Order: sequence, then structure tokens, then C-alpha cells
Amino acid sequence: MTQKAPAVPGPVTMEKLVSLAKRRGFVFPSSEIYGGLGSTWDYGPLGVLMKNNVKAAWWRAMVQERDDIVGLDAAILMHPRVWEASGHVAGFADPLVDCKACKQRFREDHLWVGWAEKEGTVVTAAGSTEIEVDPVLEKKLEKALKRTKVAYAKAPLPKWGSDKVTTLPCPACDTVGSLTPPRMFNLMFKTFVGPVEEDASKAYLRPETAQGIFVNFENVQTTTRKKLPFGIAQMGKAFRNEITTGNFVFRCREFEQMELEFFVKPGEDDRWFEHWVAARVEFWKSVGIRPESLKVRAHAKDELSHYSKGTSDIEFQFAWGWGELEGVANRADFDLRQHSQFSGKSIKYFDEAANESVIPYVIEPSSGVDRGFLALLTDAYREEPDKDEIRVVLKLHPAIAPIKVAVLPLSKKEPLAKVAQEIYATLRKRWFVQYDDAQSIGRRYRRQDEIGTPLCVTVDFQTLEDQQVTVRDRDSMAQVRLPIAGLASALSERLGF
Ligand SMILES: [Zn+2]
Repeated sequence: MTQKAPAVPGPVTMEKLVSLAKRRGFVFPSSEIYGGLGSTWDYGPLGVLMKNNVKAAWWRAMVQERDDIVGLDAAILMHPRVWEASGHVAGFADPLVDCKACKQRFREDHLWVGWAEKEGTVVTAAGSTEIEVDPVLEKKLEKALKRTKVAYAKAPLPKWGSDKVTTLPCPACDTVGSLTPPRMFNLMFKTFVGPVEEDASKAYLRPETAQGIFVNFENVQTTTRKKLPFGIAQMGKAFRNEITTGNFVFRCREFEQMELEFFVKPGEDDRWFEHWVAARVEFWKSVGIRPESLKVRAHAKDELSHYSKGTSDIEFQFAWGWGELEGVANRADFDLRQHSQFSGKSIKYFDEAANESVIPYVIEPSSGVDRGFLALLTDAYREEPDKDEIRVVLKLHPAIAPIKVAVLPLSKKEPLAKVAQEIYATLRKRWFVQYDDAQSIGRRYRRQDEIGTPLCVTVDFQTLEDQQVTVRDRDSMAQVRLPIAGLASALSERLGF
């Protein structure tokens, strides 16, 4: 008999997560039989359940359990002027460079960063000395370089946005002289409303859900008679034609947002900003993310968006490192002021106590469903030694787990099957429950561990005599005998709902 060396559990990697997601039906590459469509993903039978659970948890915390927040579901297509007012038509663009040799496309700032990294510690323009630099773009490079920990020498520096980038070698094919001068490329997806493709019928797929809330501020405020402070919450798809996508569902061109716009009196904004940063961290912990996997990072002044008075990111430790899970921004009165100006309709709130009209300030906690999904999957993934093998288990919070209970009869035959089917029929009225009678009980437990099912109910021959079943806990693997009568309530107590 050969002795197998005990398997060693390893750390979570993107490769393992993507593989498990595909193998067990959480996430598939979109249009896979046609070779896929870059960075586009489809949620499979278990993925859609888990994603719905993420959204339900957010909606419950943000709308159901609060008196001061109401919901909204605005259209994806909006009047094109909305995006002029929001600044997206003019400002939501990246400078892009094409390689004429290999036909690849790059963001210009990424080219400089790549080049700077290759050159070493000092950025020097070939043959140039004193060069004029657009201060905004210089800051962008400075920031990009800071991220890569490359030292930055202020001068000489190639002029950003100039043709200097054409002197760099292509990072993909290494050809020199093949890069085109940068062109501005708007990240919004454009389409046409109605049958005629002309400028007058131009529309965009929304790049964020927030604007649907701002343009409905008055509709919601007057119909609900909410007093400041109050919020409007919305979940929905948004689209950005990103050049750099990747890390699985972390950055996609089509994604789903969960956004709250919380309107407050000017002067009370700093306090509410702090409130929401803390509340949102607590939310992610409440759905099972370990505290050590989360941190808050306040943006430096030069990192802030044009509309923001202050922004903090709630970051999560993804398999590749820290990344943004949610952003909380103090947008001041930028959006309502812009929409007042562009629509010609004064958007204000009348404060009866003070007998004056104010433009409310707004605090925006904004997170992505897909990122939340990936963070929860990453944090839950564990490999544990189990005899000679490794047990892969998703330690998902019961509220997030796609399947809550699995019913496993020890035999496919009667009379066990009948009893098990009856239990299954009762339990599935309350939760998503799986019935599995294929292969050994050990393998069935493994399958449920791998998809994060918190509880397994095993129906065995003893059940026929004592009307009891074995309930196995996913995390401790402890087993207890419980009577069939009142089983749903007993499981409910263990699940927490
Ligand atoms: Zn190339």
C-alpha cells in the first residue's frame, strides 16, 4: 500500500475562484460557444441565486430597515442632456493610443507608467529638457507613478497629451514608431433612440445609476413628503466602455450598481459622510466579510473627482491585492445644481423650520453587485486538510449562500426516498433547497461544502425507526440528530432566518 502525502491547503487565487465558479455553475464566460466576449460574464444557476442574495441584503439594510430611505428604479436610457449636466459627455474620457503594428489599444497613462517602470527611477523624455506640462495630466501621471512606486522627477517630463508618446516602443509587440498620437475616447456606450441614426436621436447607456436619482429628486421628495435628511436608493445595470478590464467580474463593461444618494442640509454633510463610511463597513461585515479583509482609504485631495468634497474607499483584500469594494463620496450640491442649470428647473428643498430654500448636499455610498459577489466569494473560500485530502469549502454567510439546505437520502430506493422527498417538499417552501441522491454521502457533503450550503439533512435507515434525521453543519462538520417534526423551525434557528 502506498502512502499518500497529506495534501497542503493553499491560499485563495483568482485561478481557483474562476475555476470553481465555472465548475459549479456560479459564473460562465459570456457567449462562450462563440469564443466569449471580453470581460463579459453570465451568472449561472447558483450565481444568480447568490447575486440576488447580495442585492436583497443591501436593499434590506438600505431601504426596508430605514425610515429615511426610499427606493427607485429609473430607466437605463435617459435624456442625453443628463450626461451633459453630469459632466460625462465632456469629461468621462480616456486618452487612447493605437499600435499600427499589432492593432492593440492602450491608455496613454498606462504607456507612460509602463515606460517609466522599464526606464528605472527617473522619467526622462528623449532629447528634451524643459517641457511644458498640463498640470491636471501631470498630476495623473504623478499619481499613476506613485501607485507603481516609481520615483518621479518633476522635470524633464514629456508633455502629456502630446505626440511624444509615439516615440515609445509598443508594450505588446515592442515595435518603435508604431504608436499613434493619443485620441480622447468617451467611455459611454452610445446608441440611437428610434429608427433614424442621427445626432438628434442619440442616447447613452447610463454609466452610473446616480443620475436617475438626481433627476427624480423632486418627484420623490414631493410624493413621499420626506424631510431632510433622507435618501433614495437604487440598484441596476450600468455600462462603461472600459479599455482596461479584468480580474474576473471585478471590472467589466456591463455591471450592476447599488447606489444610495443621501440628501442632507448643507453643513451637516461632514457628519453624515462619516456616518455612511462606518455604516457601509458594518454592512459588509454583517454579510460575512472578515474585518481583517476590509480597510477604509481616504482619497488624497488630488485624487478627488470634480464633483467631490471628500471620498473614502472601502477596500477589500482581493486575491491580487487591495481593491475598491465601495466608494463613499460627499458630492456636495454639484449634481442638483448642474441639473437645475441644464434643465432650467430650479431643484430646491424648502426648509420649513428655517423658512428658506436650500440646495441639499448629497452623500453617496456606491458599490457594485459584481464586486460584492467577488469579495464574498473570495473571503468565503477556504481549503482545509481533511485526512489525506483537501476540503474546499465556501464559508458563506447563510443569507448569502445560494442553497441553504441540502437533503441527502442514504439510499435512492423506497422507503427512504419517499421520506426524503417529503422533507424536501416541506423545506423548499421556505428556502432554496437541493436534493441529491447521487454517489457516496462523503462526496455529496463535499459538493455542498464547495457551493457553501450551510446545512445538510441526511435521511438514513435509522430515520424510518426514530423519525429523526442527521443535520450536518458545514463549518464545524458536527452532526446532530433532530426530529422530522419541527425540522424547518430547528433549521431556521440555525440559519438565523
Ligand atoms: Zn504593438
